[in-house]
Amino acid sequence: MDKDQVKAMLLLAAQRIIDNEPLLTDADRALGDGDHGLGMKRGMEAVIEKLSGAEFDSPEKVFGAMGMAMMSSMGGASGALFGTVFRSGGKALAGKETLDAAGFADFMAAGLEAVMARGGAKPGDKTMIDAIHPAAVKARELACEPLPIALAAVADAAEAGRDASKDMLPTMGRARTLGEQALGHPDAGACSVALILRAMADYAAR
Ligand code: ADP
Ligand code: MG
Repeated sequence: MDKDQVKAMLLLAAQRIIDNEPLLTDADRALGDGDHGLGMKRGMEAVIEKLSGAEFDSPEKVFGAMGMAMMSSMGGASGALFGTVFRSGGKALAGKETLDAAGFADFMAAGLEAVMARGGAKPGDKTMIDAIHPAAVKARELACEPLPIALAAVADAAEAGRDASKDMLPTMGRARTLGEQALGHPDAGACSVALILRAMADYAAR
């Protein structure tokens, strides 16, 4: 996938988030303060504004621009955290002209490491990490496959992680005070991760 295709893929992901704002709002209303949907929508509108019509030198630069747009427009915990995933993940692609499954595995691993370092959450804490971590593991497993096959399996893994977050007790962020009341609800950030990765897989499948 070249830099223009990466850009088109990320624009599709941005639009997917915007279209699902009500779902994300409901998820954060159950466990947090209800602003995640509108925050993500605002971030993705900034991503669309920054990416569409612009020319980038490399896949790294496209992912980086997406991260910067989210960081500077969203606020809240998740603006900095999602921005970190895309910026730090993108840096793992430095020097590469195209994105393949091995590069995507590097992107996911670097993004996961950076967001865990920045936010302090680990798998099982009922955060976006619970979708990103299984997705990164799957991406590494399928690093030698064609990118569309890898991305489809990565999206499946992220959705399974999102679903598994329903049964987790929150220990980070606003939801941590809810205790057992949080059971049965998926984490909002994990919902966003699953939507983004599914849209990326859908683009690659075309
Ligand atoms: P805020 O918590 O400021 O209202 P959002 O509602 O936009 O921000 O985002 C909430 C999401 O951020 C949570 O659903 C969770 O996935 C994620 N999150 C919160 N804190 C952390 C953390 N320390 N590490 C990883 N993800 C986190
Ligand atoms: Mg919130």
